[in-house]
Amino acid sequence: MNVLVVNCGSSSLKFQLINSETEAVAAKGLCERIGLDGRLVYQPAGGEKEITEAPMPTHTEAIKMVLDALVNPKTGVLKSLDEVEAIGHRVLHGGSKITQSVIINDEVISVIDECCDLGPLHNPANLMGIRACMELMPGKPNVAVFDTAFHQTMPPKAYRYAIPTKYYEKYAVRKYGFHGTSHSFVSKETIKYLGLDKDNSKVIVCHLGNGASISAVENGKCVDTSMGLTPLEGLIMGTRSGDLDPAVLEFVCKKENIDVKEMVRILNKESGVMALSNGLSSDFRDLEEAMDNGNEAAALAIDAFCYRVAKYVGSYVAAMNGVDAIAFTGGIGENADVVRAKVLSYLGYLGIKMDPEMNKKRGENFVLSTEDSKVKVAVIPTNEELAICRETVELVTAAK
Ligand code: AMP
Repeated sequence: MNVLVVNCGSSSLKFQLINSETEAVAAKGLCERIGLDGRLVYQPAGGEKEITEAPMPTHTEAIKMVLDALVNPKTGVLKSLDEVEAIGHRVLHGGSKITQSVIINDEVISVIDECCDLGPLHNPANLMGIRACMELMPGKPNVAVFDTAFHQTMPPKAYRYAIPTKYYEKYAVRKYGFHGTSHSFVSKETIKYLGLDKDNSKVIVCHLGNGASISAVENGKCVDTSMGLTPLEGLIMGTRSGDLDPAVLEFVCKKENIDVKEMVRILNKESGVMALSNGLSSDFRDLEEAMDNGNEAAALAIDAFCYRVAKYVGSYVAAMNGVDAIAFTGGIGENADVVRAKVLSYLGYLGIKMDPEMNKKRGENFVLSTEDSKVKVAVIPTNEELAICRETVELVTAAK
């Protein structure tokens, strides 16, 4: 089955056309600057990258350009759009109503719409992508795969905030968690790769990328995760602060004469390792290089990031009363051996032993703990597009 996987951001759209039998990517790319001037980057498998500048006032024009590129007689990979059998959409927020991936119908559209409040940057863009695909490929099944769904198995003790109940009841204020597609994919792959018994397993997934989150997965189900109502909670990230005393907001707002909205923007866009490195970079490649050259602020940023990850891992070991495996994923988790080594240096008390040679590896799945380590530690590259493709195929096949 040819599945078009679509991931719409507020002004961008990433796509992959995946053959579900071989799981090979036939073509991929992205539309950038939607609503501004518009730019399509398209790459067929084994072919050259093609860049087209053209106006894309909305996501509908962007999707139209992607579909045209896919059937382009010269560089396209399809003869006609009939060959696309289903579309899988990444959707940010499904609130508490949506606990798994679903085939999109009017009811699903209204839930995504209702959740725009909770995901104001992404849900409206996700909806635009869905509507555009429905309009341009009528009759094809569209599936929504939610970033929040995997975390819906958390118990109330994990997802409730200790604030007046009326905020939960009136406004659904609670922990939701994000990166669910990645946590779901990586926890499943970890169980498979390490030969664990799914129904008797305790796995901690560290998704460390520009956005970063950790989840505790017991018997294949998420029991806790570090992001919250929004992706701001939890780990220190590229430009997000993660956890902090909420009183910091009022304190700084008063001192700087700014409002809460501006402060939340700063916590999302101007904080994290970018702030701790005194504005040097949010990218760990730059930070590592600067640290190696003696930059103390960069070293502090990396140290603080790893310390926070280790503290979350420790708390999730407590939450599950044990751990069988820890998986690293995401751009940092997969590539930054320095980060993995620093995080694991805090976890000797768990009987974790790292093999420094193995830790240098990159690429495919690999184990970096020694044979006699009490907890297995692995790098499991995430693949959210493939996860969306698999979920889409499963639902569409079951509905046939
Ligand atoms: P992601 O959001 O998962 O795509 O991760 C992107 C981040 O991964 C970048 O901002 C870098 O901080 C980090 N990253 C990517 N490649 C490397 C690398 N080779 N070494 C260290 N960090 C890396």
